Amino acid sequence: MNLSPSEFKSNARRAVHDQHLREKIKKATGTSLVKRAEVVGEIPEWEELRQEGHDRRKEVIDNLDRYIRTFTGTARDRGMIVHYAGTHDDATKIIYDIIRRTSVDTVVKSKSMITEELHLNAMLETNGIRVIETDLGEYIIQLAGETPSHITAPALHKSKEDIARLFQEKLNIPYTDDPVKLTAVARERLRKEFLNARVGISGVNFACADTGTLTIIENEANARLCTVLPDLHIAVMSIDKIIPSIDDLPLFLKLLPRSASGQRMTSYVSMINGPRSHHNPDGPRQVHVVMLNGGRLQLAKHPAWKESLYCIRCGACMNVCPVYQSVGGHAYGAVYPGPIGAVVTPTLFDMKEARELPFASSLCGACTDICPVKIDLHHHLLLERREIVDRGYKPFTEKIAMSVWRWFMLSPARFELAGRIGWVLQKILGKKLPLPGWTPQRQAPAIAAKSFRSLMKGDSKK
Ligand code: SF4
Repeated sequence: MNLSPSEFKSNARRAVHDQHLREKIKKATGTSLVKRAEVVGEIPEWEELRQEGHDRRKEVIDNLDRYIRTFTGTARDRGMIVHYAGTHDDATKIIYDIIRRTSVDTVVKSKSMITEELHLNAMLETNGIRVIETDLGEYIIQLAGETPSHITAPALHKSKEDIARLFQEKLNIPYTDDPVKLTAVARERLRKEFLNARVGISGVNFACADTGTLTIIENEANARLCTVLPDLHIAVMSIDKIIPSIDDLPLFLKLLPRSASGQRMTSYVSMINGPRSHHNPDGPRQVHVVMLNGGRLQLAKHPAWKESLYCIRCGACMNVCPVYQSVGGHAYGAVYPGPIGAVVTPTLFDMKEARELPFASSLCGACTDICPVKIDLHHHLLLERREIVDRGYKPFTEKIAMSVWRWFMLSPARFELAGRIGWVLQKILGKKLPLPGWTPQRQAPAIAAKSFRSLMKGDSKK
């Protein structure tokens, strides 16, 4: 697969013909959806909670500057060292400089989509720093030399047999596809790394503006070990991870695990309030918070597209999307796949390069219906399609074809004429009427000799 969103069409074509891949994706997303439906069904006020989540996220994004200042102040009061990074390059440089000062050559890391966005691992490894991914899914992906195919389940595209072969080859163990044994192997290897690590890197799920608290949710305790055992913890987050108050946490802790993994609550919820102190002798000596803007402040000012920053990265829109289910995450060639990826990749990164992604949708609206913070995803996809056409990023031939189509559609007489032309063409070409992207897979339906309108006219004369 080519990891560029401009290659979406060819990537998707390849993925759609990979029956094995489609079965794995269908199984994993289907299981998530069933579990989610069960736990969401237990909450009669789910729709009200979604609206509340939407409103709390809107409050932050509408006042992002102020919330950044508030969070920075409270986190510093707690003894954390807060760094503001305007660009992706700034963020990676800040992180590298922090690590370089410790003279370590290995860091342990828990799952974080922002570090994927920064391509942090590649940069650190180029500079001689070994990065150990400690989330099981990320560990598998790292061993395979791949990128995550889903934002909460990075190895969703791999079966247990794929993982068994990978572990056999890379970890030099006898083949076993028993998930318990495979997990035990990973745990044993990772435990040694945790005990030796002096620097831990994590993401952040929610940063509370009023208390400076960093919240991380997870199921494997690897994030907790990354943030507690080493002497130095670097928390990497984008500025939109801020929520107004610690009082909002119960709301988001109801919405996120249910939507992401169909759990009432994840196994671990870590709330980090600063480095160790004489009152609290456990934890790291230093906590650095690296806050990435990366175009988000600009996006927050756009009247429509700002809504994509409400996302709490649950991944439910991917699970429910018929396009994602058919092609998987890698086909998008972007850090964020699925409907939210198709929305944010053009607006946050490069609209020209990602111009195919907003068209990777049937516009069925299932993503909008499932989103726990009520982001109107399919309408954003439509808006972006219009913007892409207005900027002239679609092929000239498509523009001509749509103009011709519009010309025929705007007049009943021309519409009728189009039907006659189609009928004549079908008479000449038989059923092989060539419609690119349509008839190679399907037979064109036969065009009736008499149109519905002429039949109606005939009837009304009788
Ligand atoms: S857009 Fe909504 S459903 Fe999709 S990942 Fe974000 S919060 Fe979840």
